[in-house]
Amino acid sequence: MPSVLGRLRSVVGDEHVLTDPDLCAPYETDWTGRFHGHTHSVVRPATTAEVSEVLRICAAHGIPVVPQGGNTGLVGGSVPRGGELVLSLRRLDEIGPVDADHGEVVVGAGATLAAVRDAAVPAGWDVGVDLAARDSATIGGMVATNAGGSQLIRYGAMSRQVIGLEAVRADGTVIGRIPALRKDNVGYHWSGVLAGSEGTLAVITRVHLALVPLMTDRAVALVGVDDVETALRLVGRLRRSLPSLLSVEACFAEGVDLVCDHTGMPWPLETRTPVLLTIECGTSRAASSGDEAVDGLLEVLGEADEVRASAVATDEAGRARLWAYRDRHTETVSTLGVPHKLDVTIPFDALAAFHDEVVERVHAIAPDARVVQYGHLADGNIHVNILGPDPDDDAVDEAVLRLVVEVGGSISAEHGIGIAKRDSLALARSAGDIAAMRDLKHGLDPTVLLNPGVIFSTATYRT
Ligand SMILES: Cc1cc2nc3c(=O)[nH]c(=O)nc-3n(C[C@H](O)[C@H](O)[C@H](O)COP(=O)(O)OP(=O)(O)OC[C@H]3O[C@@H](n4cnc5c(N)ncnc54)[C@H](O)[C@@H]3O)c2cc1C
Repeated sequence: MPSVLGRLRSVVGDEHVLTDPDLCAPYETDWTGRFHGHTHSVVRPATTAEVSEVLRICAAHGIPVVPQGGNTGLVGGSVPRGGELVLSLRRLDEIGPVDADHGEVVVGAGATLAAVRDAAVPAGWDVGVDLAARDSATIGGMVATNAGGSQLIRYGAMSRQVIGLEAVRADGTVIGRIPALRKDNVGYHWSGVLAGSEGTLAVITRVHLALVPLMTDRAVALVGVDDVETALRLVGRLRRSLPSLLSVEACFAEGVDLVCDHTGMPWPLETRTPVLLTIECGTSRAASSGDEAVDGLLEVLGEADEVRASAVATDEAGRARLWAYRDRHTETVSTLGVPHKLDVTIPFDALAAFHDEVVERVHAIAPDARVVQYGHLADGNIHVNILGPDPDDDAVDEAVLRLVVEVGGSISAEHGIGIAKRDSLALARSAGDIAAMRDLKHGLDPTVLLNPGVIFSTATYRT
């Protein structure tokens, strides 16, 4: 190992090969606190050429590698399981000039979502995916997990924002094309192959992003309704009548109580209701006249009998205040213990029943567990957070995922499989699907050096 460390230091510089346990510690535990492992070294390259050289050295010595971006992933895929080298991509944070005419920018994989937005906004553009971890989550990590976020109904997931990318295979070979072209059907589309690959196929180093027009007029409403079925009816009406719709998120009274306790914020509406929807509309001034977003939203809400209480804001501070009740759920849950986080999609017609049934299934196994649900309602995506059971006890996870499969849902809506759900992969994909995924993994990384144990348990790899 000493000679390997020497070679790695000569590539990235002494100060970017960390071996001191105190310095490595932040890279060893994930955001949830549920997943952690030990690494002998954290290596922090700054360019694609350095990533390539580091991977060549690791391949030559058979050293497994965990790629890590902002370490905000929620399924344990960004931290070592035991003995892997952590390849931190955060220093690849260069942001190229924004093409103001065509709405494009080339960014390093380590640039955070917030930094890219800060660069795009002055040019009249924005990033189509938004999520609460925006200050830390990196563009490379967001592509590697195919992040969804709160604006998916308008702009799609992260894969839709990628014009092209550059990546490095486990043997150090650089693949992809930067700058990329909007239409370029020459063989396999690496952005499609690598989106959602969770660091198992190649290390993404640069991304050519398609931006979306900046929404200059935005309106946010926090709306209280009686139940999930009513909420879903309202979502349908909003989608039909409001082309400016950006987001419809849901949270529930018990979760909002916890957020209020944690943050000191007051209950947000004049009436207490079981379900709260965060609805955002946005228009670009270039494409509309004045207050189209707010007018349209107010009109639809004014005619909606199911709305029991509402608060609306158009100014930035007011919008942020209303969003905080939904955005601060993840952080609030983590202050109460180490949660089991199940991120699932449920068919719309099964969602209302699922909301109650999932609590019953959890309580059948862990009667004292606390279940906190919230999510991206317009996508049928619910985050089920379970507090109480030991972090290493997967019984509640299995029970929830079985219910999800029974009702025709997906066991991972947007966070990925990681190590958290790899044992449930066969519940959600056929043997043929899994064999094809393993063949793809094997084709690109034949000696299984990139993120071993993520998506598939290492026991199921071909040797
Ligand atoms: C408060 C909070 C809110 C969140 N909200 C959402 C949400 O709304 N929607 C959503 O989809 N997710 C959400 N997440 C999860 C998380 O932010 C996303 O998964 C994000 O895309 C991870 O980016 P990251 O840079 O932190 O990646 P990491 O956590 O560092 O890594 C995630 C995975 O990607 C791999 N990876 C990272 N960088 C690269 C790279 N350059 N090349 C190859 N593989 C790489 C890692 O090996 C790992 O498997 C949230 C998380 C938090 C903490």
